[in-house]
This record gives sequence, structure tokens and C-alpha cells, in this order.
Amino acid sequence: MTPQKKRNLFVTTALPYANGPFHFGHIMEYIQADIWVRHERMCGNTVHFVCADDAHGAPIMIAAHKKGVSPQAFVAEISASRRHLLDDFHISFDNWHCTDTPENTELSQEIYRRLKAAGLIYTKDIEQFYDESKGMFLADRFIKGTCPKCGAPDQYGDSCEKCGSVYAPTELIDPRSALSGTTPVLKSSTHYFFKLSDPRTVAFLHEWTQGKGADGTGRVQPEVLAKDSEWLEGDNLSDWDISRDAPYFGIEIPDAPSKYFYVWLDAPIGYLASFKAYCARMGMDFEEELMRPDTEQIHFIGKDIIYFHTLFWPAMLHFAGKPFRVPDHVNVHGFMTVDGFKMSKSRGTGISPQDYLDLGMNAEWMRYFLAAKLNSRVEDVDLTKDDFQARVNSYLIGKYVNIASRAAGFIFKRFEGKVSDAAMNDPVLVQLREAADEIKADYETREFVRAMRRVMELADVVNEFVDREKPWELAKDPARAADLQRTASVALEGFRLLTLYLKPVLPATAARVEAFLNCGELTWQSVETPLSSANPISKYEHLMGRVDRKGQLDKLLPDRPEQTAPEAGKPGEKADKKPQKKSAPAADPNAPGGEPVAEICTIDDFTRVDLRVARVVKCEEVEGSDKLLRLELDAGEGRLRQVFSGIKAWYKPEDLTGRLVVMIANLAPRKMRFGVSEGMVLAASSALKKDEGVYLIEPFEGAEPGMKLH
Ligand SMILES: [Zn+2]
Repeated sequence: MTPQKKRNLFVTTALPYANGPFHFGHIMEYIQADIWVRHERMCGNTVHFVCADDAHGAPIMIAAHKKGVSPQAFVAEISASRRHLLDDFHISFDNWHCTDTPENTELSQEIYRRLKAAGLIYTKDIEQFYDESKGMFLADRFIKGTCPKCGAPDQYGDSCEKCGSVYAPTELIDPRSALSGTTPVLKSSTHYFFKLSDPRTVAFLHEWTQGKGADGTGRVQPEVLAKDSEWLEGDNLSDWDISRDAPYFGIEIPDAPSKYFYVWLDAPIGYLASFKAYCARMGMDFEEELMRPDTEQIHFIGKDIIYFHTLFWPAMLHFAGKPFRVPDHVNVHGFMTVDGFKMSKSRGTGISPQDYLDLGMNAEWMRYFLAAKLNSRVEDVDLTKDDFQARVNSYLIGKYVNIASRAAGFIFKRFEGKVSDAAMNDPVLVQLREAADEIKADYETREFVRAMRRVMELADVVNEFVDREKPWELAKDPARAADLQRTASVALEGFRLLTLYLKPVLPATAARVEAFLNCGELTWQSVETPLSSANPISKYEHLMGRVDRKGQLDKLLPDRPEQTAPEAGKPGEKADKKPQKKSAPAADPNAPGGEPVAEICTIDDFTRVDLRVARVVKCEEVEGSDKLLRLELDAGEGRLRQVFSGIKAWYKPEDLTGRLVVMIANLAPRKMRFGVSEGMVLAASSALKKDEGVYLIEPFEGAEPGMKLH
């Protein structure tokens, strides 16, 4: 491994709003960040990994009021429930803080004063709905009324859930306060604004969003940069209203009686407050740490808060000046979905981390599952029961954990726990060690999908070796004891390397493996330090069980009615779902085997057909054809191919755009009435009952355009 300069990393995850317990969206983000953080620690880098509860704002004030407690007491109760869940999911925060603290008050007021001194704060009187009976101004979500566009009753002040229209609260028909039910009145009040549209701010943000962090990679992902550029170009930036009137649960604005910072101003400053409290606890100097030239400030966030974190936040920090520093990176992830749906309790797709643990499900199963789905792009991660079960039982247990149980017993019982030192240079192990740099690089760039795929390929290599050498047969013949020791030693050292490669994802399992292999703490340095006969291993203890479909997964995610209903005809509608028919489409009873299998072909026959993964870049209907869709496919060739496909009855163009398909790449081009078709996309259908549907073939996640099918 190439030695690198040590880094000093200040890493955060988005602050959860303290009005309820964690949901899996939070946990996914913490796991993503935690895997990265653990990898950095394994590199020998210093990491300060902090987070905090986001305590302020009207929703918490109102929820506390309803419960008859103070907002502080309300938040404290939520906060107290955090620790054990974080520990149970092995999230290794160094500090957990709160935005309702002296550190945050001090930092927020200081940053505000500096922004004001920089000429970026101004005031303006605005008219807003006011609840006279409660004596307070109403945020948009505390005003309800009839939608001005579609007439739906009981809609929020900013948008209609029925028709999706967006409007100002003053446009609502029959507006009323959601707090008291009374009709609000319009009242004028002075608000404070941060001048995001200032030419200096805009110029800075152009530079920051396009810049690079200390590691030489972009500060934001390409798709985030595209979004930011949209906002930055064409003067789409509006100034930001950062004040709220009393009564408000928040931080007072200096020299502005009865005015408070809007919760979104002090929330990100909570990262710094948490870090400051942590520094004090650890005897470090907060300002010095921030200003160290080797410090990198890195935020992990979800795609819903890009605007706050890649525009307001860096601008605030930049114009506040030293010791504050702009973020080196803002790493954005997508949402976690269940069966392709947003998680929601009412839909039966809302699963709580607490329920997961209460069912006796292993937190590391989820960590591995998420690692096997997360990449560096802003993509949603979909959880389905089939996928979860397969990844845990077939991959994690079947391929990885089983290696230890296959090999450790022989070494422990037959060889006093001693491996064969001579076996440590077996070609299988050389191959495993050579993969280290690549896997390490994938962790570094948050391409966890690729790292997990590579690790499982290497597990296959070890399993194939064991299958070939058959230690269980060697064990029957005392004359072949040396072979048995060699074989089991290779397998066990292979297991040590795989454990090292999985350690950021499976920290608890790795700790137990380190203990029973007696191999010391695994870091990226220890790739080249194999097991040694000088340190005999201990007895192997069961590491991890399988997930139970009926007892666990089915209880966590009960089947919903629409899953068992036939989905005939519209496979595109639930794009991420495989059709889950209760009974398989029965073949013709007169042909029990379904359609007869074609004549035998050779592997050469097969390889003559060049099958490639391709991405649908564009898809549209073909004028004058009721059968065809026209697709533009990217098969990694640096050009796009036009392919016509007779799937119009089954898919809508918008359902296919962006998805992966399988294409015959070397099919002779065919001239059709509408143009030349340069290939063919593969789909499945019943030869007997065509009307049962046509289903496009989609590669598993991780496949990329241009990949060849073997
Ligand atoms: Zn409406």
C-alpha cells in the first residue's frame, strides 16, 4: 500500500429534527458516513465525526406546547433516546450535541454579526398571517384552507397535496390558523434578510461550487453542481428571510428585540457547536483545529437539503471569515425507499429502526445491505425483502462468514491453532492482497457498491479454492495433514483479508474476528501482515446468523394488498418492482413444461451474440406506430444507438428513461419505416400467453453501460 499524507477530517451528518425518533432515512445517512469515517480511521487519518439534535423552530415549540412540557424538556426526551440506537447500529460519532446550547448561541450570533458587518444583512417589512388568539405569526404549515387552484379543502398554506399546486398562504380560500382554528389576519412585521443575491455572494458561490476539496476532487457531485448552476445562473437566487418573530423557540438576534433566528440559520452552525463542545472535552483548541491547513470539513446530507448546504452554508462561512472555513465537500445521497415507494407509515412502507432491532435483526445486516447499494451518486436506495434476504443469506453468510466456519475448526483442533506460515504466499492470497488498493480507493470515493462486489468476488475465489482442495477429505487421511493445514491456512488468511476489506461495514464482526484470529487490530496497513504460527488462533465462535424470512422480514415489512394483486399490463408503473404474482403464470396444461427448450447450442454459438448493458438515454413514442417506442441507448461506445422496440403497449417512455437494459450489440442494422434500428433490447414474455405481458430485462445494480454479458 502506498503511504499517504495523514489527513485531519471534520465530518458531519445532517442534524435530525428533534421532533421524533430516528427513521431509517437518518440511519442510512449515518451508516454511509460511518463506513467512510471508519475507512479513514483504518487509513491512519484523524477523524472528528460529530452531529447534534436540531432543536429549534415552530414545530417543536408547538409539539411541546401540546404535550404540556417546555421545548427544552421535549427535546431532551427525544435526545435521550438517540444514544442506544446509534450504538446498536455501530455509528461511531465522537460527539452528539444540540443546537439549543451556549456554544450554538454564541457561534450563531457571532456569524450573524460578521455577516452584518460585511453588509450582507438588511431588513424589510413584510405582511404575514397572524393568529390573534395565540399572539403569533403563522408559518406556512400552520395555515390551512381551501386550495385556490382545485378547491380541495384542508390544504397547507404553501402547497396543495391534492393537485400539487404551489401558492402563497394569502391565496388560500378561507384561511384559518391550524393552531387555534381562528381566521388569521394580515399583519406587518420587520424581517431580517441574508443577501444571497449580492454580486459578491454569487461570485463566491460560482467559484466554490465548481472548486475542488483538499483531496483534489470536486466539492460537490456532478449532479449537485448541475442543480447549483441552475440556481446560480439566470439570477434565480432570492434573499433569505432569516428572522422569526417572538414567540419562537430559537436564538435571539443581537440588537433586534423580539426577533429570533429562523431555525435553518442556526441548524448548520450546530455542526460547529458540536465540534466546539467536542474540542473542549478533548482538550483541543476549536479555532486552531478549524484553521489547521490540513483540516478538511466534510458534510454528508440528503438530496432534499442541497440548497441550504451548498448555497447558504458556504456563503455564510466564507463571509464570516476566520476561523470559519468553507466545506471541502458536501456529499449528497438519495432517499431510502421500500419496494420503490417513499417510506411512509400509512402505506405500510415505513419501517422504524427500533422495530428492526426489536425483531432481533442484526444491525450489520442492514449496514452490509446499504453498503451493497450505496454509491457516490445521488440515487435512491431501494429496500425489498427479496433483495435483503439474498444479500444477507447468500452473500454475507453464504460467501463470507462460511469461509471461517469451514476452515477455523481444522486449524484449532488439529494444529493447536497454528497456521502454516509457508501457506501465506499462496497465489490465492496474493490475488486477494492485490485487490486491496482498488477496494480502498472505492471506499475513499464512496463507491461502496463496487467495493462490496469486489469483496464478494474475492470470497468466491476463496470458496472455489476450498471446494477444489476439499479439506474435509484431506482430514480423513492422516498422511495428508500438511496439505490440510496448508489448505485451511489459506482459507483462514483469505478470511482475515476479507474481514479487513469489510471492516468499515462490519465493525462488530471484525472485532470478533480480530479476537479469534488473534491477529491484532486490522487496518489498511495490515494487508501485508498475514496470520502467523507464532499467534495461534482461538476457538471459532459462531459469527452471524441468517435473516429469517417469516419471523423477521415478513414482520418488518408485511405484504401490502397491492403486492399480491395482479399487475397485468402496466409493468412500467411501479418501475422498481418485480411483478409479484401470487401464482406463477401457469403454462398451458397440455404443455406442462411451458414452451419447449430450443435446440442445443454451443458456447461458441452463444458468444457470437454480443450482449451488452445499455442505458436508455432517451425514449419516445413513434409517430404513426402503435407498437413501437424509439430508444436512444448508451452502450459505453461514446455514441448513442437508435433502437426501435415493440413494447409501447407495456411501457411508457418516461418509465424507461435512465434505466438499464440488455441489448444485442452486433445484430445487423435493420431499416424500418421510421428509421434504422441498430440493435435490439431483450425482454421476457410467455410464448404461450403473449397478453400476460412483456418484461424488459434489467441488470442488477452495479452494472454499467458497455458491460458484456457472459
Ligand atoms: Zn389543489
